[in-house]
Amino acid sequence: MALTGLQIFKQLPKTNCKDCGHPTCLAFAMALAAGKTSLDKCPHVSEEAKEALGAASAPPIKLVKIGVDQTVVELGDETELFRHDKRFYHPTAVAILVEDTEDIAARLADFNDLEFDRVGLHYVTDMVALQCTSGDAATFKAAAEQVAANTDKSFMLICEDAAVMEAAAEAVAARKPLLYAATNDNYEAMTALAQKVECPLAVKGNGLADLAELVDKITKLGYKELVLDSGNRETSQVLADLTQMRRLAVKKRFRSFGYPTMAFTSKEDAHEEIVQASVYVAKYAGLVVLKAHKKEEILPLLTWRQNLYTDPQKPIQVEAKVNAIGDVTPDSPVYITTNFSLTYYIVEGEVENSKIPAYILPINTDGISVLTSWAAGKLTGEAIAKALEENEMEAKVNHKTLVLPGYVAVLSGSTEEASGWKVLVGPREAAGIPSFAREHFAK
Ligand code: SF4
Repeated sequence: MALTGLQIFKQLPKTNCKDCGHPTCLAFAMALAAGKTSLDKCPHVSEEAKEALGAASAPPIKLVKIGVDQTVVELGDETELFRHDKRFYHPTAVAILVEDTEDIAARLADFNDLEFDRVGLHYVTDMVALQCTSGDAATFKAAAEQVAANTDKSFMLICEDAAVMEAAAEAVAARKPLLYAATNDNYEAMTALAQKVECPLAVKGNGLADLAELVDKITKLGYKELVLDSGNRETSQVLADLTQMRRLAVKKRFRSFGYPTMAFTSKEDAHEEIVQASVYVAKYAGLVVLKAHKKEEILPLLTWRQNLYTDPQKPIQVEAKVNAIGDVTPDSPVYITTNFSLTYYIVEGEVENSKIPAYILPINTDGISVLTSWAAGKLTGEAIAKALEENEMEAKVNHKTLVLPGYVAVLSGSTEEASGWKVLVGPREAAGIPSFAREHFAK
């Protein structure tokens, strides 16, 4: 049963020292009760209090790690039901299904190629989900070893026969794969195996009530590195299960569901499968496993995930430093824009289209677009002058002329005054850059 803010407050030092980032101990207690912080943020809490606070000090959804080193996949540790309340932290991991009877090397070559660069961000698929279709321990073990050897990404092993799983899990235990899955029929053997090889364990229920009971049985055996699968595969039912699990974990502190969740797609058509996976990314799968594996199928899913897991209070930004586009020379033009990612990359694309090498200097406007940042007083003549100086633009070019976005032509005077540079008012829309560049800078 969850503790109230006042019950937690009674156990705190009550010094209001603010070291936890909250103005008072009471504010911290309220945040802890709501699952929006963790007890370890208060460095002064006593051991007795830690014990007394018990479940209240644990995050509503446990952090579970799959894999090792740079490509470790972190699931869970979420505190919000709604993204607009704060943000979501650990993007849904995307795992691509590979069967142990397939040409593993060829499938892994395709998998390793599933990476994309878009608006300055790098999108990747996170895991291989190796399924034992052969039913043969030696085949599954050899396939697991091949996966471990041919990708540095994390992976999961799918097999409900604990004896078959054991050989593969032991062979690749150092890579900490997720073992899928403990069920009512095998949970004792699977839990013992997961404990032995120290790998996270997926728990597959037969609906939510059954899953909660199974989780309790496994935690009583002393294992808590769990990822939960309700066992359903029909889209609306899985969505309902994932939503209920998240709600119960975050709002009611129902400990049996205080673990990250996972879902499998079930559609045969790849595009329907991506839609299904998108539903699970939206609410609230920590991991989604799918068969679709072509670039054009995966890109929309990763784009949707990226969108959902950005901080709604923080626009996507590029670094506010000068970038050279093409083989620049001291004659190259200098374009001014803002560091809002979408604006920057549209300008960059059009400068490339102009085929005239140039410098683009994005001004730090906290990731706000041109007109909005001008209205907010972030894009000013002084800010442009400062950026020109900090980026040593005078040393890079043999002229002192900059191109200002047409929408903020009104800044021309203050920019010239603050910087000493001459302003050339550019087009209002980035699409006008190629013709503008040809008119002013073509030799
Ligand atoms: S760090 Fe601990 S003692 Fe200090 S204000 Fe926060 S809760 Fe209170």
